[in-house]
Amino acid sequence: MGWVFICNWLLLLIVAGGLHHWFYGVDGQGKLLKYDPRPYFKRKNALFKFGYQAWDNVYYSMIFGATFLCVLECFLRWSYAGGLINSLSFSAHPVWFIALFPVFALWQSFHFYVVHLALHQPAIYKHVHAVHHRNVNTGPWSGMSMHPIEAFGYLSAILIVLVLPSHPVHMLFLVYWLILGAASSHSGYEAIWARDRLALLLGAFFHQLHHRYYKCNYGNAEMPWDKWFGTYHDGSQDATKHTRDRKREMLR
Ligand SMILES: [Zn+2]
Ligand SMILES: [Zn+2]
Repeated sequence: MGWVFICNWLLLLIVAGGLHHWFYGVDGQGKLLKYDPRPYFKRKNALFKFGYQAWDNVYYSMIFGATFLCVLECFLRWSYAGGLINSLSFSAHPVWFIALFPVFALWQSFHFYVVHLALHQPAIYKHVHAVHHRNVNTGPWSGMSMHPIEAFGYLSAILIVLVLPSHPVHMLFLVYWLILGAASSHSGYEAIWARDRLALLLGAFFHQLHHRYYKCNYGNAEMPWDKWFGTYHDGSQDATKHTRDRKREMLR
């Protein structure tokens, strides 16, 4: 169990901490490929725990986000080992074994859309999801920075392995998908640009718009759930107007 905690905490520290250091620590590429031209909150702000967005986000990510993920991972590893989960081997079902990776990615996308929509119901939003949305101008640490109830809801996607027969490697795929996806989708930048070339595409515009306008883009870019359910925002002025109209309608 200790190794699970150390590995996941270290992974988050390296990925979110590394991205934060590049974008906001050494200011590696200034505003190049940054979505929001406003600066990241570096100044003291009473809205955040300890007075700073970065320390607040590190606290919530490490104490709730990463820790809950570790608890779930330990429980599922124990369940696989004890035969409580129907496991799947590559030798017996090679096609399904490979197909399960994209199936899990699609499942996570759908689960995120549904849970996220629930988090935006006024009563839940006020007491739970508002913790995450204090980050209007997000950074890599904002991704896993969430209220404990939200952490459980968001991370419960991983419990799909209790229903679908899988191998522990599929469960780990979801663990890393959740950690890495959250850090990159909140980085605030389209990509890492180093030595005059694109070094790594992060592509987080979709979720950046959610933090900017709230009532849109509840899912992620992997699946068009928002397009299908009428909550999609593509960044255009028309879409902003449509989102604001919908918000007004809901407040009536
Ligand atoms: Zn939200
Ligand atoms: Zn977010």
